[in-house]
Amino acid sequence: MSPDNYPNVMLLIAAIAVGLLLCLSIWNHRKVDKTKRFCSACLAVTESIEGGSTKTINDFGTKIKTRGAKCSSCGSQEATIATTLLWVSVIYSGDYRVLFVGPYRYLIRRLK
Ligand SMILES: [Zn+2]
Repeated sequence: MSPDNYPNVMLLIAAIAVGLLLCLSIWNHRKVDKTKRFCSACLAVTESIEGGSTKTINDFGTKIKTRGAKCSSCGSQEATIATTLLWVSVIYSGDYRVLFVGPYRYLIRRLK
């Protein structure tokens, strides 16, 4: 391989990397289970929160910390949202129920 080919090789590697990321995001999106819903018991003790019910998990600086047992009928779990600073949780805000529907996707409702 001559040095003249190096830019093409770098371009090819970049194209493959972008392609893989695209495939991964499409694959993750396909795995979202749209049939999953909170059960009526969980809906009764929670209320919807602003900004929709489905979010990506890896929002910058926020983490969902689940606790307790999963609901036996819908599989949702009690959780706290932690705002983190350099991987250390500094602020916990509110109590929620979260239901994971796919990789990096969840439904969330605030506990009443
Ligand atoms: Zn439930």
